[in-house]
Amino acid sequence: MSRILVAGGAGFIGSHLVRQLLDDGHEVVCLDNLSTGFYANVRDLTGNERFRFVEADICRLPRIAFDVAFNLACPASPLHYQRLALETIDACTVGMRNLLQATLDNGALLIQASTSEVYGDPEIHPQREHYRGNVGTMTERACYDEGKRLAETLCYEYHKRDCRVRIARLFNTYGPYMHPDDGRVVSSFIVSALTGRPLTIYGSGRQTRSFCFVADMVEALLGLMGFSGGGLPVFNLGNPRELPIGELARLILQLTGSTVPIRHRSPAAADPVRRKPCIGQARRHLEWSPQVSLERGLGETIAYFKSILPRQVSEKPLLEERRVRLGADQ
Ligand code: UDP
Repeated sequence: MSRILVAGGAGFIGSHLVRQLLDDGHEVVCLDNLSTGFYANVRDLTGNERFRFVEADICRLPRIAFDVAFNLACPASPLHYQRLALETIDACTVGMRNLLQATLDNGALLIQASTSEVYGDPEIHPQREHYRGNVGTMTERACYDEGKRLAETLCYEYHKRDCRVRIARLFNTYGPYMHPDDGRVVSSFIVSALTGRPLTIYGSGRQTRSFCFVADMVEALLGLMGFSGGGLPVFNLGNPRELPIGELARLILQLTGSTVPIRHRSPAAADPVRRKPCIGQARRHLEWSPQVSLERGLGETIAYFKSILPRQVSEKPLLEERRVRLGADQ
């Protein structure tokens, strides 16, 4: 059993990871500033004596003892990181450095959740880990792209100072517990289809993404924790099945049985045209590859949204609940 810190543990991927780590018998400290995560995602775990929730920001990291840290603490949806651009830069720089220093001080291991966005709008297809990317410092995505790139550079510098670090570059991930309002394409399309509103495609719909089901992603992150190789390993993690966004829209209409129309709007700013991971490294060194088909994963995600939409997860009750809880803690 290890003591594991999951920074960003109340977010979408973080909360799945926390649950799996607890199931595997670990002690878990879930740290989150609740800027885009939700306490509701982990509330049911508070009865578990191996679980602790700490509401804090990695930019003002409290002293915590741990053997392994996962860093998922950063807004990840374009809608939110563009709204929280400066906070995103802070998380990727000040927060990243705090976590690396704490990892060094604890003699621990850090697994950094980086992103396919470090490749920007890629000219190489599919993307391999050694590709240096096609990015710009002054775009609507730069706070996140460049932030995550600098976070990797900080990992590199700390690795040179004997800090144990591993980098996972996560490609698009979806599944239950995505927030209905997080603005990402899978959740937006499903929520629209289930509530009878048109599906909005930004641009032609010919731009592609590759979608990985969250359970597959969590398994890969756990595999990275158990990785026995040395150095500063960097792995693409994602599902290599590539799909145009227009096809995703049609598939979601088919799976939900919805007949709502599809409408097109102007393309999103600095939107990458194609994205597909090469996962040869993860296959070879982690013996991992995604097991859940897009149809099955979307089916589970649709079932989840059907179960929550009647009582619409709105932010207001969650904030009220948060005030009550904070009051009780004092
Ligand atoms: N997108 C869309 N409609 C939506 C949300 C997103 O057409 O309601 C498009 C978006 O412009 C991008 C792709 O879907 O081309 C994936 O967007 P997302 O925000 O999920 O993540 P990204 O991969 O861009 O970070």
